[in-house]
Amino acid sequence: MREELRKVPFECRACWHVWEEEYTVRFGDRGEVWLRGNVPVPPPTPAEKCPRCGCYQAVQFPEGYLAHHPELIRATRPAGSDATPLISPVRKRPRWLET
Ligand SMILES: [Zn+2]
Repeated sequence: MREELRKVPFECRACWHVWEEEYTVRFGDRGEVWLRGNVPVPPPTPAEKCPRCGCYQAVQFPEGYLAHHPELIRATRPAGSDATPLISPVRKRPRWLET
């Protein structure tokens, strides 16, 4: 019996979240068996639940699609904060103007 690890990419059509699900596919006498965490599951379909918004309107990409489009994964992560201090272009008022 042969086993193969497959990462199937999905994109949510409601919130545009992109994620991957890992499956193990066993090829036996009775054909393919898809497993997730050693539990047999049906082969992936676009009816996957979105981990972010919980809806069932995902689109399934071909395997390996995200390896060619890493920007899709990066775009879904929140941008890190910028450590550059903000400097106001407005000059400080001279002290003698304060009351
Ligand atoms: Zn979603």
